[in-house]
Amino acid sequence: MKVSDFKIGTLGSHSALQILKGAHDEGFGNVVICQRGRAEPYRSFKVADRIIELDTLADTVSLEKQLIKDKVILIPHGSFFQAFDLEELNRQRVPYFGNKDILKWEVSRTKQREWLKQAGLTLPKIYEKPEDIDGPVIIKFFGAAGGKGYFLTHTPEEFKRKIAPHADKQYIIQEYVVGAPLYIHYFYSPLTNELEVMSMDKRYETNVDSIGRISAKDQMDLKIETSYNIMGNLPVVVRESLLPQIFEMGRHVIDQSKKLEKHGLFGPFCLETIVTPDLEFYVFEISARIVAGTNPFINGSPYADLRYNEPMSTGRRVAREIKQAIQQDRLKEICCNDFTL
Ligand code: ADP
Repeated sequence: MKVSDFKIGTLGSHSALQILKGAHDEGFGNVVICQRGRAEPYRSFKVADRIIELDTLADTVSLEKQLIKDKVILIPHGSFFQAFDLEELNRQRVPYFGNKDILKWEVSRTKQREWLKQAGLTLPKIYEKPEDIDGPVIIKFFGAAGGKGYFLTHTPEEFKRKIAPHADKQYIIQEYVVGAPLYIHYFYSPLTNELEVMSMDKRYETNVDSIGRISAKDQMDLKIETSYNIMGNLPVVVRESLLPQIFEMGRHVIDQSKKLEKHGLFGPFCLETIVTPDLEFYVFEISARIVAGTNPFINGSPYADLRYNEPMSTGRRVAREIKQAIQQDRLKEICCNDFTL
C-alpha cells in the first residue's frame, strides 16, 4: 500500500492544526472532525481537506465504518480523552496511532507513579495523611478543570482550615516543589529505536502567572483564589548541560514502558517537570501522546531544527513515522489496535 492510499484524521481541537499540516507535508490527505460551530480555524488556516462537523465530538463513534473505509489513521491528542473514556476508546476499530494498552498506566495516578518511579525518576512525595504534612504541599482535586481550587499549604493545621470549603471533593496531597516548570516533548520511534527531543515549553496559566503583577498586600485584600487554567504555551530552551539528563529520563521511561506492556510507549510524549535551584528534575506527570505545548513549534523548534533540514513539528514527525511504517510494511507496529484494512 502507498502513502496516498491513507488519510490522517484527528479531532478539531488541541494540536489538530499541526497534525493536519504535518499530514500534508508528508503527502497524506487529511480529515478533521469538529464540534459544530468550531470549524473556522481549520477552514481559515487551510490545513484540512475535509471537515466533518458533529454535535459533539463523542459522536465520532458514528463515523467508524466510514473512517475505516476511507483508510483514516487517527492521531490522538488530549481532546480524545475528554470525548471518550478508555473503554470507548478501546472499542474503536479505526486505525489509531499509538499503543492503547499503555493508556491505563497514564490514566491512573497510582499506576503512573509506579511507572515513573520504576523508571528511576524523582517524583514529588505524596502524603497519605494530612497529619504528615511537614513542608510545602499542593492539594490537587480530582477532575479539577484547569487546577481550579488547587491550593498550597505547609502545616496540618493550615490544611484543615483550607480544605474545609471542599468537604465533598477527592484530592491528593503532593509535595510542592519550588522551582521552574519545564515540559519536555519527546518522540520515540519504534521503527528505529531512536529517542528525540522535539521541543520544550512552559505553560502560561491564568491567573497564577499574573499574580506576581499584584502586590502581596493587594492579593490578600482582594482574596484572590489561585487557578492554573492554561491559556497558552511559551517556548523554552534549556542550558545545554541539562540535555544529557533529559535524554536519559526519556529513555528510562520508554525502557520501563516496554516492561509494562507489549510494544510499550512510542510516538510523542511529554514529561512534566519542575527543575529545582540544584537543577534536579522532579517529574509530576507524564502525557503519553502529543501535548499542546508543542504548538509553538509548528514551524520546528531549535532542537528539531538541529536534526531536520526542514520544519519538523511533532505533528509532522508523527506523520513521517506513519509514512515510514507504510513504506516498510510495518503499520501494525505503530497502530497497535485491532483493525483490518
Ligand atoms: P492539571 O493536571 O490539573 O492541569 P497540574 O498537575 O498540571 O494540574 O498542575 C497545575 C500547576 O501546578 C502547573 O503549573 C504545575 O506546574 C504546578 N504543579 C503541579 N504539581 C506541582 C508540584 N508538585 N510542585 C510544584 N508545582 C506543581
